[in-house]
Amino acid sequence: RAFNFNAGPAALPLEVLQQAQEQLVDYEGAGMSIMEMSHRSEIYENVNGGTQSLLRELFGIPSNYKILFLQGGASTQFAMIPMNLLKAGQVGSYVMTGSWADKAIKEAKLIGETAVAATSEADKFNRIPNISDIQIPANSAYLHVTSNETIEGTQYQQFPVTGAVPLIADMSSDILSRPIDVSKFGMIYAGAQKNLGPSGVTIVIVREDLVEESPKSIPTMLRYDTHVKNNSLYNTPPSFSVYLVNLMLKWVQSRGGVAAIEQYNRDKTKLIYDTIDQSGGFYRGFADAGSRSAMNITFRIQTEELEKQFALESEQHGFIGLKGHRSVGGLRASTYNAVPLESCKALAEFMSDFQKRNG
Ligand code: PLP
Repeated sequence: RAFNFNAGPAALPLEVLQQAQEQLVDYEGAGMSIMEMSHRSEIYENVNGGTQSLLRELFGIPSNYKILFLQGGASTQFAMIPMNLLKAGQVGSYVMTGSWADKAIKEAKLIGETAVAATSEADKFNRIPNISDIQIPANSAYLHVTSNETIEGTQYQQFPVTGAVPLIADMSSDILSRPIDVSKFGMIYAGAQKNLGPSGVTIVIVREDLVEESPKSIPTMLRYDTHVKNNSLYNTPPSFSVYLVNLMLKWVQSRGGVAAIEQYNRDKTKLIYDTIDQSGGFYRGFADAGSRSAMNITFRIQTEELEKQFALESEQHGFIGLKGHRSVGGLRASTYNAVPLESCKALAEFMSDFQKRNG
């Protein structure tokens, strides 16, 4: 298997793919694939309900939170959040941490009033703003944070306490990578394609009082209350993606749960961050040490020439996806839950070797 460091869609565990392969043609003796089955069938309803229960158990989601499986990616949530939750006379408040926070606020601006509660733009988004610098306007409908900025490679190490204002987090690139106190959030959402499975399904975890009734003017599919009332089965769901999320969750469970996964992730990223820090300046981490992401490791080499050479040679050695995002350049290794320690070890060795040859 390739050393897959893609930023998204990202690596899936081999065991999960193999199990899906085994069940592809005949799901549990039904004589058909899960993707050929009615989403109204008992078998699929069990997949839908079982996936919710397992996520609730693994992520410690309290009973007053709904779990929704939606389509349209996290990008559709950027619009659905203000459409459903931002009322006249209120502002949607956003912490500006980089590329994805920017996309989220831009969508909200199309819908209503917004405010920037804090920003690290002056530092080129190489850090998460200090929690104490976050100013939440009193008329905020919510405070939106991007818990992990996939492109810049920064991650909240602690979250702001928002009192009566619901805290909403885009966890697309770090959901289920570490234990989180869900009760501190009004809503958490994530496209599945990094830590939870394949693309095609977006997970929304939301406190039920926030989604009891959406404004009547919103189209049916864009209303949270539609999906709450129909248990995510209002229309044809992305059934194969949800099934794969189910397998992914069982895999996390088999690895000892989210706390064990967090430790594993720390061990993985330490190998690469240590290589950067001990390179005597040959490699430079992009993110401030206190904001470093355990999911996306962003770094630079002294010249763009060397970066190009690194990207090329790494591919020749079987490493996939190390070129940084075009908007920030440099290099990026995405080390989501399914990336094995062995891949990170191999990358750290390749980096040291590359430095020896070019340093
Ligand atoms: N938010 C973050 C933090 C992301 O990393 C991404 C995708 O990479 C998105 C949102 C957009 O997700 P989607 O492609 O599911 O719309």
